[in-house]
Amino acid sequence: MELIFEKSREGRALSILPACDVEIVMPKECRAEAPKLPQLSENDLSRHYTQLMKRTFGVNDGFYPLGSCTMKYNPKINELTAALPGFAGVHPLQEEDTVQGCLTAMKTAEKYLCEITGMDAMTMQPAAGAHGELTGLLLIKAYHEDRGDARRTKIIVPDSAHGTNPASAAMAGFEVVNIPSGEDGCVDLQKLREVCGQDTAGLMLTNPNTVGLFDKNILEITRIVHEAGGLCYYDGANLNAVVGIVRPGDMGFDVIHLNLHKTFSTPHGGGGPGSGPVGCKQLLVDFLPAPYVAEGETLRFEQPEKSIGKVKEFYGNFLVMVKALTYVMMLGREGIPEVAKHAVLNANYMMEGLKDIYKMAYDERCMHEFVMDLSPLKHKTGVSAMDVAKGLLDLGIHPPTMYFPLIVHEALMVEPTETESKETLDAAVAAFRKLYDMACEEPGTLHEAPVSAAVRRLDELSAARNPRINYYAAQASSSKAKAKKEEAR
Ligand SMILES: *Cc1c(COP(=O)(O)O)cnc(C)c1O
Repeated sequence: MELIFEKSREGRALSILPACDVEIVMPKECRAEAPKLPQLSENDLSRHYTQLMKRTFGVNDGFYPLGSCTMKYNPKINELTAALPGFAGVHPLQEEDTVQGCLTAMKTAEKYLCEITGMDAMTMQPAAGAHGELTGLLLIKAYHEDRGDARRTKIIVPDSAHGTNPASAAMAGFEVVNIPSGEDGCVDLQKLREVCGQDTAGLMLTNPNTVGLFDKNILEITRIVHEAGGLCYYDGANLNAVVGIVRPGDMGFDVIHLNLHKTFSTPHGGGGPGSGPVGCKQLLVDFLPAPYVAEGETLRFEQPEKSIGKVKEFYGNFLVMVKALTYVMMLGREGIPEVAKHAVLNANYMMEGLKDIYKMAYDERCMHEFVMDLSPLKHKTGVSAMDVAKGLLDLGIHPPTMYFPLIVHEALMVEPTETESKETLDAAVAAFRKLYDMACEEPGTLHEAPVSAAVRRLDELSAARNPRINYYAAQASSSKAKAKKEEAR
């Protein structure tokens, strides 16, 4: 498919304004040359993007069970409320008394999300989950420093954690201490006790963890960390399994982030905008980023007393927060626990339908997702987790998360989400079973998959190790390589 720049023809630009008939005065901030925008008719422009759309796969195309990503259906009413002129048309520099409605939406969202998570206050500033992690860790750092406790330089992270956890801890200037999971996929309490000490700043954990299990020792875990003087950080990116049922605050966590673009239904996967608000208990409130919406006679922005400062310009991705608020208000107190119950039910339903042939990494009831271990299948047939994932593409299903978590070999991590029907789940189970049979009967076919997608199997290793991200340079070097091959012939 040609790039839109290659389809461009000089003089074919869309022009909806009449030609300018007054002298053009360019302020000195303007660029000297006009940008080289592609020139296409409206018809060609529309076709270009429709073609692109047909070459991708999204939640609206079909089942998308990408583990640890919560690719659920995002209600369209969210978009309607976020597009209301009173929300979409405000300017971030408007005076506070002209945007009391927006501030009320922010404060209401904060209150609901605090109630759902068991926190005392929340900042809406961070733009994504990893950004929230960094913010939360900076709160922990500020807390220890404020107490004059500068020895606390280590953050404990279990080996099953999402990759962003150790990365964020390192970025916040902490040393990362990894602890292995036990046989059961949960935190090894003995190991935790061994690494906790006077240098412990805190622990980062997600529960249910990234193998889809709820750690039954959670109260003991947070107690051990608190007794050592550390704080507990909860990675709440995927809150689906527990939302409205149990609260991280009640499990003993002091600070959390949420991914509004996962659990609270903003479309994601295309690169944003996202939102990763950070909630905290009272002991961290004074350190929250500025500005924070404070209540008084009217709502206004305040700088918390010992604020860590700003982590993003203005107030965060406000319209994503409006979508989350819409979602929470649409579901209400009765609907939210139903989300969790269905997320867990759907995952267990699929797992039960597959576990007689696919080996489950942990053979117990899962939460919102489950992890399969395809090493026995690979051993028997040579067909890998990658082959099965690519085979799903030919059956109209987006592959699950592959080779994660790292503690399971040949892992496929399936998260169906609460928004799928029984029929869709049955069809997905049938697809997985069909691929298992194919692996046994004609393994060669699966090494070739996908055959019906827009592109065949990509060289992922070279793409990661030696990325060529300039289209023209990549084209030039591939035509050079082609010429060389011809010559050799
Ligand atoms: C998605 C995810 C993150 C990171 O969120 P981003 O918005 O992609 O930065 C962190 N932790 C867990 C468990 C996640 O699933």
